[in-house]
Amino acid sequence: MIIIDGSQGEGGGQILRSALALSLVTGKPFRIENIRARRKKPGIMRQHLTAVNAAVEVGSAHVSGSAIGSPELTFTPTALRSGDYHFAVGTAGSCTLVLQTVLPALILADGPSEILLEGGTHNPAAPPFDFLVGAFLPLLNRMGPSVKASLERPGFYPAGGGRMRVTVTPVRKLVPLQLLQRGRVVTQTARATVARLPYSIAEREISVVRKKLAWADDCLSVKETPDSSGPGNVLVLAVASEHVTEIFTGFGERGVSAETVAGRTVKEVLEYLDSGVPVGRHLADQLLLPLALAGGGAFCTLSPTAHTATNIEVLRLFLDVDVKVEQQDEQVWKISVGGKG
Ligand code: ATP
Repeated sequence: MIIIDGSQGEGGGQILRSALALSLVTGKPFRIENIRARRKKPGIMRQHLTAVNAAVEVGSAHVSGSAIGSPELTFTPTALRSGDYHFAVGTAGSCTLVLQTVLPALILADGPSEILLEGGTHNPAAPPFDFLVGAFLPLLNRMGPSVKASLERPGFYPAGGGRMRVTVTPVRKLVPLQLLQRGRVVTQTARATVARLPYSIAEREISVVRKKLAWADDCLSVKETPDSSGPGNVLVLAVASEHVTEIFTGFGERGVSAETVAGRTVKEVLEYLDSGVPVGRHLADQLLLPLALAGGGAFCTLSPTAHTATNIEVLRLFLDVDVKVEQQDEQVWKISVGGKG
C-alpha cells in the first residue's frame, strides 16, 4: 500500500486528486494522511469528497475515510469502468477539479465515456472552463485521446449551479508530448464576462487590457451571461501561438476593483509573453500527469510552483518515471519526464 503524507509541499487538495487519478490508472491502492493539512480548513471538503466519490465509481473502489472533514483516506480500486457518469459537487466547488481526478483514467479506459458535471465552472484557484477547453484539452488531445467539453450553464462562486458535459474517446497508449517552443504569437484575445452584475465592470476590465496590452480592438469583447444562478465576473485573456494556446483568468471579487482584477491578469500575460515559454504555471502542474502516463515528454515553463513540485513527488510514488527540472535561463525552466533506465 502506498502511504502519502498530504501535508507535504503544497499540502492542498491536488495531492489527494493526483493520488486518486494515479491509483485509478495503475490499480495501486493508497492511504493518505494529513489531507490538506496546509489549508485553513484542513481535511476533505465538498469538492474533494465529490472527487473521491467520482473515483470510487470509475474505479469500482473500496474506500474508507470518505467524509467531510476527514483527515485520512484509504482507496483501493478494483476495476476501471468507462461509461456514462454524473458528478454533482452540490456547492460552487469546482467541476473541473472533479474532472481532473477521473479524466486520466477515462482517457485510458476500454471504452468511451460521457460525463455530466455540476457545480462551479469558473472558480478562483481552479482551472476555469475556458482554460480547460482552450489550453489543457487541445494538448491532451494531441497525445491521442479525443476529449470534448461543452458548457451548458456557467457556475460562479459562491452560487455554483453550473453544468458542463464532457465526452471521452480513449486511447490504448498516450503519445509523449514535446512542447519546448511557443512559436510565433498568432492571435491574442480578451473577453470580460459579467453575470447579474453591472456591464461596466467588464468594460472597465477591457479598458485596462486595451491600455496595458495594446491588443487590437476587434480582439476585445464584453459579454453578459444571463443564464447564471448567481453573480459572477471573469476576465479571460488568450494567447494563441503556433504550438500552443495559453489562457489567463482573473475573477471579480467583492472589495477588489475591476482595474485591479484586470491589472493582475495582464501582469501574468506580460510575464508569459516576455519569457518566451510555451507553458504557463497552471498548465505546467496539470501536464505532468499525462506526460508521466505517456512515459515521456518535455516542456519549457516559468519558475515551477509548489503545485508542480508537489505533483512531481506524488507521481514518483505511483510510477517508475524520472522527472528532471532544469533552469535554462533567468525565466525559463525545462521539465522532462522519462521512463527510468
Ligand atoms: P485547496 O486544498 O487549496 O482547497 P484545491 O483542491 O482547490 O485546494 P489546489 O490543490 O490548490 O486545489 O489545486 C488547484 C489546481 O487548479 C491546480 O492544478 C492549479 O494549477 C489549478 N488552477 C488554479 N488557478 C488556475 C487558473 N487560473 N487557470 C488554470 N488552472 C488553475
